[in-house]
Amino acid sequence: MTAVVIVAAEVDGRPGQGVRLGDGKVVAIGPEVGPSPGETVLDLRGGAVIPGLHDHHLHLRSAVAAAGSVPLNHVASDDLAAVLRTAADERPAGSWLRAIGAGGRGFEALDRDGLDRVVGNRPVRIQHRSGALWLLNSAAIDELGVAGWTEAGVERDAAGRPTGRLWRLDDRLRAALPAPSTTRADWRSFSDRAAAFGITGFTDATPDRDDDDAAELAALVADGVIRQRLHLMTPADRAGASDSTGRGRVTRGAHKILLDDPRLPSGDQLAAVIDTAHRHRRPVAVHCVTADQLVVAADALATAGGFPGDRIEHAGVVPPGYAHVLADLGVTVVTQPGFIAARGDAYRRDVPAEEQSWLYPCASLRAAGVGVAASSDAPFGPLDPWAAMATATTRRTASGATVAAGEAVDAMTALALYLGSAENPARLRTVAVGEPADLCLLRAPLAEVLRDPSARAVRATVIAGDVIAAEPVGGAR
Ligand SMILES: [Zn+2]
Repeated sequence: MTAVVIVAAEVDGRPGQGVRLGDGKVVAIGPEVGPSPGETVLDLRGGAVIPGLHDHHLHLRSAVAAAGSVPLNHVASDDLAAVLRTAADERPAGSWLRAIGAGGRGFEALDRDGLDRVVGNRPVRIQHRSGALWLLNSAAIDELGVAGWTEAGVERDAAGRPTGRLWRLDDRLRAALPAPSTTRADWRSFSDRAAAFGITGFTDATPDRDDDDAAELAALVADGVIRQRLHLMTPADRAGASDSTGRGRVTRGAHKILLDDPRLPSGDQLAAVIDTAHRHRRPVAVHCVTADQLVVAADALATAGGFPGDRIEHAGVVPPGYAHVLADLGVTVVTQPGFIAARGDAYRRDVPAEEQSWLYPCASLRAAGVGVAASSDAPFGPLDPWAAMATATTRRTASGATVAAGEAVDAMTALALYLGSAENPARLRTVAVGEPADLCLLRAPLAEVLRDPSARAVRATVIAGDVIAAEPVGGAR
């Protein structure tokens, strides 16, 4: 591999720096570091070099599949039927129609029969934007044999007939569906899109991962299809991918625990699950989007005791006083500023007034001493970390209203939410000699970029020393 040297860069606020990469690491930094014969030269012309961004919580398989799905996030209830019919007409006869991001009264009013009246001539499945619910039409129910499924998540009417609603049955659904419709090209284009945002690592937070899933993801990394590093949440009692299969870029993450309000465990029951993970020397990542979930999680973590790397995912509603509880527990909160932009108007409509100021906090958690990091939760939230940073500073919804405006942070803090390490998202990585060459190269000095955070600021991304350019970079024009 030819060595790479970055010149005329800003590093840690110092202009005029050179940065030499070798063996996947940063090997030298300083004003005296310049090109040697045969080296590839990246001339940043004053642009900043910062650590690559890490998306601390997303669902890769779903995100890649979502690229071929009908997005319903911004479809008004009255337009839902027309959007689905149009999408069906554009697809081959009889093929599956998959839609995602549904919500609101138009979707909630639908069951299998209602969906049949919209699209009845092909199997259809629609995912609620929470990710917890799929709605199937009759053709889909028949094709998959859902009537014979025994899982409690299959909602049935009084006569025992499936209503079309499947709760938390992602794995069951995936196993029953025809061969995966995603190709290696789909994976590659998702990876490239993330790299264009400066993303050098992903934490995949999908629960109940089995070893086959981990091995397949590691193979995609080994083959260079996925370029980013992967940190895979894996059940405590499973091996996960061995690092040797992933070019040293795949690591094992926390044990994910999903909580669901209708089936919320007691604090003691949850503490037992957490304790089991800790006995396997694994941290936990507890999904908490409601106040009830946060309260039981905090209770259980206090009972079980902490383990380095324990996390709360989302912390969507944090009641008064709980920031300090979380600080005392030593957990890191992984939040999604992008939800404010994408769903904030729905929160303002649907969340009780007294809870509005408790939504997706950031500033108050940090003030209380809680480590906070950010993520997209793609495909359930938008992938672009720069748009999410901007939202973290403004707390603005799509319509321009604000949600919990007091939770806004400055742009440097918002950026830092993406600069933590995979294992400890609150511990910041740095551009330093000996550190991995996972870098985001910007078009301008950092202070200038942060005045208006945007993905347009990303000029190139470096992952383990490999340069992935958003546009050609180089001294020659
Ligand atoms: Zn998630």
